[in-house]
Amino acid sequence: LFIALEGGEGAGKSTQSALLVKWLEEHGQHVLLTREPGATDLGKTLREIVLDPATGDISHRAEALIYAADKAEHVDSVIKPALKAGTVVITDRYVDSALAYQGSGRDLELSDVERVNRWATEDLRPNLTILLDLPPKSGLGRFEERDRIESQSAAFHERVRAAFLELAAAEPQHYLVLDATQGRAEIATQIQARLLPMLPK
Ligand code: C5P
Repeated sequence: LFIALEGGEGAGKSTQSALLVKWLEEHGQHVLLTREPGATDLGKTLREIVLDPATGDISHRAEALIYAADKAEHVDSVIKPALKAGTVVITDRYVDSALAYQGSGRDLELSDVERVNRWATEDLRPNLTILLDLPPKSGLGRFEERDRIESQSAAFHERVRAAFLELAAAEPQHYLVLDATQGRAEIATQIQARLLPMLPK
């Protein structure tokens, strides 16, 4: 079982993924919580480059390829081996983040970003994507210091949010879209209700 958590900045992905791990373990599952970018040695280096404000403005295609390289390494060395071993894998961000941030946020051709990401992941798709939807203003307000991407304009973050919602609307059966302004316990309960019938025996 492969689950992706997606959403804008400060939507509560880390909180919900931690709660989800606990709940899955209580249900006897072996769980791996991982994230993008930065789950592998290569990924950590790429994450530093791409998020450091000192990197400045780089080509949007170069940026998309850095995230895609992180993803390829993540899929090959972490996600696929874990799934093969029967572990439930939860990833904090995945392909939808690339489509939303690099595609809509940066204004690259969505079909190009999609093609690169399908290649990077060998088209490995989550069984369910949980989208924590939040107005960017509330999410970004939670940060005192912003990384290179968080520092993008309000319009950038609005495009990202709209892109996530569009991806979910196009394939509702693969998504659980939640209003992230709700309390953490309420959100967790809705995630658990959706996942319960999906748990491996
Ligand atoms: O989820 P987390 O806050 O760790 O993400 C790190 C940063 O990378 C965030 O600022 C996020 O907006 C950015 N990001 C991105 N494109 C991706 C994945 C993450 O711009 N494909």
